[in-house]
Amino acid sequence: MAVYVFGHKSPDTDAITAAIAWAELQKMLGVDAVPCRQGDLNPETKLVLEKFGFDVPELRTDVTGEKYMLVDHSDIKQAPDNWDKGELLAVVDHHKIGDITTPSPIFFCAMPYGCTGTILRILYKDVFKKEIPANIAGIMMSAILSDTVLFKSATCTPQDKEAVEDLAKIAGIDKPLDWGMEMAKAKSAVEGVAPRDLVFRDYKDFNMSGNNVGIGQLELVSLDLVANIRDDLYAELEKVKAEGNRHSVFLMLTDIMQEATDLMAVTDDPGIVEKAFGKKLEGKTVWLPGVLSRKKQMVPPLEKAFAA
Ligand code: MG
Ligand code: MG
Ligand code: MG
Repeated sequence: MAVYVFGHKSPDTDAITAAIAWAELQKMLGVDAVPCRQGDLNPETKLVLEKFGFDVPELRTDVTGEKYMLVDHSDIKQAPDNWDKGELLAVVDHHKIGDITTPSPIFFCAMPYGCTGTILRILYKDVFKKEIPANIAGIMMSAILSDTVLFKSATCTPQDKEAVEDLAKIAGIDKPLDWGMEMAKAKSAVEGVAPRDLVFRDYKDFNMSGNNVGIGQLELVSLDLVANIRDDLYAELEKVKAEGNRHSVFLMLTDIMQEATDLMAVTDDPGIVEKAFGKKLEGKTVWLPGVLSRKKQMVPPLEKAFAA
């Protein structure tokens, strides 16, 4: 029986490449593992799969009656539909532990590194003692560069840098950071993309003290790229908030060169922004220098503010 491997909804590069790389390792161990995606790929992920010669994983959104594994998340809101009507066999993740539970023991591996790809390298080498194929090394390396924003993110650890160095050698990539910059440019593509697709390009829903909170992020090589579409993005956030009965919807406009985020917010309680970040909204946004990471610099202060 096939075992389906899923990254989170609104997949980023790590969600897709970790599903492929973990499924490949499972196959080496005799499991009929099939990598899946829960949504459309962003332009960066498409570029990565093309470069290293992988097909786009199949689209699946429901696990009723199926066996499955999760990578890059363990939150119910980011998991496939009917997660509790299938059998979860494994989780490999680098986020806070989510709210998924199981009736039986499973393989559960969480390490606080910058990327699932970094953990997978350790699992290949040290736990299951398997060689990493060159093209798999290439996509894992790409995911680490993406998740750590070329090592600039507060989430980046020495283990991530070590992994990129090693995986680049296996993949035959001489200058991983140059490749990372190419990826960042692809990820910045906004021209001609519908505002709704931009809001959901890298988007996650959270349950914060009983409140539905959505946080999207656009990682850009320059904020000039969105200068003309800010009003459209804001209007879209208002729609998303109303549709999902959400308390707040945030969009991180992250300038990866300036290393800062202009945080756009639509919320029932503008005071939550000040509680979380110590700064008031000015109009539609608040400027947050040094903030690149949703996981480490957005979610924890917001959860704290909602719990207060
Ligand atoms: Mg991810
Ligand atoms: Mg990740
Ligand atoms: Mg990310």
